[in-house]
Amino acid sequence: MELLKKTAVEQHKALINKEVSALELTQASIKRIEELDKTLGAFNSLTVESALKTAKEVDDKIARNEEIPMLAGIPTALKDNMNMIGSKTTCSSKILENFVSPYDATITTKLKQNLVPILGKANLDEFAMGSSNENSAFNIVRNPYNLNKVPGGSSGGSAASVASSEVTLSLGSDTGGSIRLPASFCGITGFKPTYGRVSRYGLIAFASSLDQIGPFARSIEDIAHLYEAIAGYDEKDSTSLNLEVGNISGNLKKDIKGLRVGVIKELLADGVSDDVKNSVENAIKTYEKLGATIKEISLPLLKHSIGVYYIVATAEASSNLARFDGVKYGYRAQDAQNLLDMYCKTRAEGFGPEVKRRIMLGTYALSSGYYDAYYKKAQQLRRLIANDFNQAFKEVDIMISPTCPTTAFDLNSKANNPLEMYLTDIATISSNLVGAPALSMPCGFDKEGMPVGLQIIAKNLDELTLLQSAYALEQELGVYTQRPNI
Ligand code: GLN
Repeated sequence: MELLKKTAVEQHKALINKEVSALELTQASIKRIEELDKTLGAFNSLTVESALKTAKEVDDKIARNEEIPMLAGIPTALKDNMNMIGSKTTCSSKILENFVSPYDATITTKLKQNLVPILGKANLDEFAMGSSNENSAFNIVRNPYNLNKVPGGSSGGSAASVASSEVTLSLGSDTGGSIRLPASFCGITGFKPTYGRVSRYGLIAFASSLDQIGPFARSIEDIAHLYEAIAGYDEKDSTSLNLEVGNISGNLKKDIKGLRVGVIKELLADGVSDDVKNSVENAIKTYEKLGATIKEISLPLLKHSIGVYYIVATAEASSNLARFDGVKYGYRAQDAQNLLDMYCKTRAEGFGPEVKRRIMLGTYALSSGYYDAYYKKAQQLRRLIANDFNQAFKEVDIMISPTCPTTAFDLNSKANNPLEMYLTDIATISSNLVGAPALSMPCGFDKEGMPVGLQIIAKNLDELTLLQSAYALEQELGVYTQRPNI
């Protein structure tokens, strides 16, 4: 069905004009998943029954000539670290392989209120740790533009499912770039809102001071609608911000003449591939053409962001993952001699190698004698990186850079080299450290036809300027209408 490749806004129009029913749209989406996903591996599980029920409700409303929410009836996927009552939430880990959610995450409740059919749970790197989706305990995910390449991680399934038109929208989580990197590799848009804008209640925690939920879509307009549907204060999340989200989708179309665009010098330097550089430079020229002023910006401490992140994130992960011990949730090892033996065996058998590496790193960084040398130092640097950001935002309204120095890499090419894998996050991590909103949008293709992503960062809480600037560029570049041949 051609309609599957359209945006949510276009699908919404087709629904209210009765060109298609929500049930037909959802069924077409399910059919496409059944056809494609054996190859793609984007889903861990499907929740077809409840999706069809929701679609039916939408059709009933349309039949009664009632108004429907913008995203009602639009096929959507959740990353498999978000709870949805009665469905499995595995985090792509053996330790939660058979865990069934006893409650809905706040984002799930909000999507249900908007009558959004949730078709299934998307594959990810185990516990959201990774950049290629090769760390899933179940399946690798392939890139819809080239099946021999990675889709990016950790929200690889969420990105690949939208890029391949299995679904129209999805949600991911971003701790150090896990929404933006896969969006960049798969040629779609992925958006990480300001820390605290979207409730994390019901998201299985990786690193609580960095984790943020955000939308994937094929256009900025869709991103704005999905963001509005999930954002807002939630008393169940102590880090949730009690602030107005505002009307973003209704205010996207703005003349950006005079917008001050900062180009992050350190992220367009050595190590960036020529094709990525060319596409990003073309985006810069396009901004100039639209009347924006361009300024080179330096973030001198950016080079420390990966080091800081891999201390803070692993420290928090080692604490968050302590709850998986065979007692309360999921997998429990057999044949243990005593309680301690049961803990050890459960965790040894249940966690994969990358998760174990992070737990060990984090435990080490937090241990007495090392706490001041590593964790405290990392937190101090985190503050200084935030100062760099504040300084830069006195001079510019948004900052731009490539989302990643390269396009999607080959499967297995970095899987045995954790350090090289960590370096793919160089451009994305700092926004998590400071809490700033950031997105990745497609801005071109490399010589092999793989998508290039442009990252745009705005100051904390300024989602409106961020999405307005992205929208103006998107309309002028026109790249967002491209779909992979799959
Ligand atoms: N790639 C980063 C990591 O492995 C980011 C992950 C994320 O954002 N969830 O930790």
